[in-house]
Amino acid sequence: MQILDGNLVSAHIKAQIKQEVIDWQAQGGKKPHLAAILVGNNPASEAYVGNKVRTCQELGYESTLLRFGVDITEEELINEVNKLNNDDSVDGILTQLPLPKHISPDAVINSINPAKDVDGFHPITQGKMLLGQPSFLPATPYGILMMLEYYKIDVTGMNCVVIGRSNIVGTPMTVLLSRNANPGNATVTLTHSRTKNLKDITLNADLIVAAIGKPKYVTADMVKPGAIIIDVGINRIEDATRKSGFRLVGDVDYDNVAPLCSYITPVPGGVGPMTIVGLMKNTLDAVKQNAKQAVLS
Ligand code: NAD
Repeated sequence: MQILDGNLVSAHIKAQIKQEVIDWQAQGGKKPHLAAILVGNNPASEAYVGNKVRTCQELGYESTLLRFGVDITEEELINEVNKLNNDDSVDGILTQLPLPKHISPDAVINSINPAKDVDGFHPITQGKMLLGQPSFLPATPYGILMMLEYYKIDVTGMNCVVIGRSNIVGTPMTVLLSRNANPGNATVTLTHSRTKNLKDITLNADLIVAAIGKPKYVTADMVKPGAIIIDVGINRIEDATRKSGFRLVGDVDYDNVAPLCSYITPVPGGVGPMTIVGLMKNTLDAVKQNAKQAVLS
């Protein structure tokens, strides 16, 4: 069994991005600028946004973090997104999810200018991805593709099973693994909460992507020996031995599944760091595309 080490792969890709930013600026390009919106103070969201801002600093990007209280209205939040849409210094915009219940995430995502949609969540972005047209890719599936490429895992013709059908992970992952591209060309089954006999399906999988949000849900009896396991889940479980009182586990029962499989991503240190790299790659693409547009217009 080999661990798919997200910290190692992301460090490798970040070094490439850093050099690309230096080269881009040497040619007169502007610093990539990522603007993040955080509503409320959900501790997990604080941690994710903090990581993104720190990575911007590490890679030589500019970053702006806009914080709002949970009482901000949907209209006010969309106004803030529009200010960023109209700000030429900003190349990428992300809204950290989840948002408070009174704000529709779809309405906020739809208000982001698709040219700045570096999380890859906007319907235009996802539509282009579905049709195989050039687009930003949703950051987590994009990160997973980069991980597969780094380890030279060829998924062509594999039976892949994706568990979870969210718009940000499971559904785009299914599209990307099955499209005629490299990585791609896999035969993919998308499973979800209404799937019957999930175990019968996963036992046929050469590769499983678990994006459910339920701690240790994928157990050893669901996994074919030699399968590849990509664990997207990030779940907090109580742990009295930790100062914080919790620890992070994935959607896969790592201790019992790892000995069975050929490759596995750990949690933490697997898909999480790759998601940030996906976001950073998209932001660098955004600054380059926006510069090209400015020349053409
Ligand atoms: P979500 O809650 O939007 O979707 C979960 C999906 O799981 C749903 O489509 C649902 O149908 C499916 N599901 C629920 N119970 C199921 C069951 N018993 N059997 C089969 N399918 C079931 O979640 P999401 O946003 O896709 O996130 C999933 C997990 O991944 C969460 O733990 C989240 O924190 C994590 N996540 C991690 C990263 C990362 O960078 N590592 C990025 C995004 C999300």
